[in-house]
Amino acid sequence: MAIRLFFAACPLHLPTCGSRSSDRDPAGFYAAEALQKAAPGIAIDLIDRLPTPFGLVRGGVAPDHPKIKSVTRIFDRIASQPGFRYIGHVRVGEDVSIDELRARYHVLLLSYGADTDRTLGIPGETLPGSHAATEFVAWYNGNPDYAAAQFDLTQRAVAVVGIGNVAMDVARILAKPTSVLSGTDLADHALQALVSSNVQTIHLVARRGPVQAACTTPELRELGELEGVDVVVNPRDLELDAASEAQLAAMEDRNPAKNLEVLRDWAARPLTGARRQVVLHFNASPVALSGTDGVESMTVVKNRLESDGKGGVRAVATDERYDLPVGVVFRSVGYKGRAIVGVPFDVRNGVVPNIGGRVVEQAGSATTVPGLYVAGWIKRGPQGIIGTNKLCATDTVTQVLADVAAGAIPTISDSLPSLDALLAERQVTVTSWSDWQTLDKEEQARGAAAGRPRVKITNVGEMLEIIGTHRR
Ligand code: NAP
Repeated sequence: MAIRLFFAACPLHLPTCGSRSSDRDPAGFYAAEALQKAAPGIAIDLIDRLPTPFGLVRGGVAPDHPKIKSVTRIFDRIASQPGFRYIGHVRVGEDVSIDELRARYHVLLLSYGADTDRTLGIPGETLPGSHAATEFVAWYNGNPDYAAAQFDLTQRAVAVVGIGNVAMDVARILAKPTSVLSGTDLADHALQALVSSNVQTIHLVARRGPVQAACTTPELRELGELEGVDVVVNPRDLELDAASEAQLAAMEDRNPAKNLEVLRDWAARPLTGARRQVVLHFNASPVALSGTDGVESMTVVKNRLESDGKGGVRAVATDERYDLPVGVVFRSVGYKGRAIVGVPFDVRNGVVPNIGGRVVEQAGSATTVPGLYVAGWIKRGPQGIIGTNKLCATDTVTQVLADVAAGAIPTISDSLPSLDALLAERQVTVTSWSDWQTLDKEEQARGAAAGRPRVKITNVGEMLEIIGTHRR
């Protein structure tokens, strides 16, 4: 008997978050690829809430990192395989429920990413001018949910909290000359705002030291290569405490040592009096944001570092505090996944609880939910580069295939109306891969006219109009 295996990778729209669900995870495409390799011609429906695919590759990767985005060529190839369908503009949780999908697919693989932000939990965090970096990233990348967001770039000084790669992206986009950004696919509204930006000082605030900085060296190094930007490093911040020395010596990862080299080089470099400055603050944690109608200042406490007794190093607050006069704060302290109705959720870790990609009934449980799988950030948390998702998705697919071979996937009824029929009855305008290709061509044509790789369409209504016109 031939097994009719359907598969849906669902970057989901979440009923709990209104219209603000955003970045999705390219792990869905990698899972599709692994399934296609194992079972050529397999029927795969990839559901996305937007008419535009590619998750974080479109909505998260910085516009000035086009090489990383070239991975979409692989996704195009995956989408062209027999059996693959893109079901765009379908909001799981609103247009169709998880239960309705589970009733129609032998396998439901969720790869909806981690689209909210972690918070700092400090007074003043909700003041106007305090933003999640994830929102800024979604805005400058043209995510339709954030197209109308406002960031006050008339301010002279801003702070970016955290020193991961997202913080690097945010600081770089704020500091980079718009003459360079105008050659990228940065959203038009962001380009206009950045052209008239008054931002001169970007404070990068890291709670631990240079050895613990989460950013990778190429991303760090880029900050020091920006035209018209001085990077300011306090040499005292680079004097390592005993715990950091010991950690560095024990590390196999060479990234921290290379970061340290870059930072030492910057600390020794004379300042040029450039128009913009990126000022690094190590061992510093924000403890309050203050201001009358919006953020005017960020109070920071100096930390000392000590061993956590497990090979790591933790920050401990001292009595020393200082204020940074900043008008905007970007909190770049990590993404977080969210719960969806009908799927178990591990609140503590912000992931769907799973063992190797098989969803389990609750965190710590060994009882799996038949036919339900996860891949990407919602499986393992928001870490890793785009390619990390390939391995992650392939591992999940290995479990899927083992369950298929063992007959451990649920049976589904043939008598239910199909997903297409259900969505048609609900008058959902479903978009296809060919519709995306229409949008893609349109964006590229607009880009060619402006000497840019593409001009992104950032309004779903406009996307549907273009698709409708082309279909007629
Ligand atoms: P991340 O790498 O986890 O960095 C988070 C940063 O926030 C760390 O510096 C962390 O410091 C800090 N932090 C966390 N909680 C804090 C708190 N309460 N107060 C102050 N600081 C706090 O996260 P991310 O930057 O969002 O990046 C997510 C993933 O995407 C990463 O794997 C990243 O490499 C990847 N990414 C890659 C690229 C690229 O390859 N170009 C670009 C963007 C993102 P501690 O270390 O002290 O916890």
